[in-house]
Amino acid sequence: MPNGKLAIYPGTFDPITNGHLDIIHRASTLFDRVVVSIATNPSKEPLFGVAERVEMIERSTRGLNNITVDHFNGLLMHYAVKKKADVIVRGLRAITDFEYEFQMALVNRKLAENIITVFLMPNEKYTYLNSTIVKEVAKFHGIVSSFVPEFVENKLKEKFR
Ligand code: ADP
Repeated sequence: MPNGKLAIYPGTFDPITNGHLDIIHRASTLFDRVVVSIATNPSKEPLFGVAERVEMIERSTRGLNNITVDHFNGLLMHYAVKKKADVIVRGLRAITDFEYEFQMALVNRKLAENIITVFLMPNEKYTYLNSTIVKEVAKFHGIVSSFVPEFVENKLKEKFR
């Protein structure tokens, strides 16, 4: 559906999960171009470096030709304005996400009122999934093959050998 719209899907992606991928697939059908962009927020201590996270997202989105991967520092909206984005995509898993996302979206609208935040819901089978729980399972050598792509599963195995 070519509509000339550029969407940014920001997040930590530490690592990318099948839930994130579900959102990326949906966004790729809605917008001309989608930039999956890693927030390199120094207050979080990620398991994977930025280059590793970029690689994992690139590998997982190979079949989608309107997806690119990037990273940014500082305020999302400064970055989004610089990129000339039209839309910010966020995933909504459950009502527990709502309050935080609602606050963020309204603040972001104050910062750049022309950029619209859009929420997409994943398939319900991913609503319980986040990167933190995947890391917990992997850390204790549990099987994560239904949560993340195979390449990511192998990267997790390497980290927690
Ligand atoms: P953040 O640290 O910004 O929450 P995440 O990488 O955890 O970054 O998430 C990025 C976005 O993806 C957020 O909008 C989050 O709600 C969404 N998301 C994360 N996991 C899932 C999932 N399993 N299903 C749908 N959306 C998800």
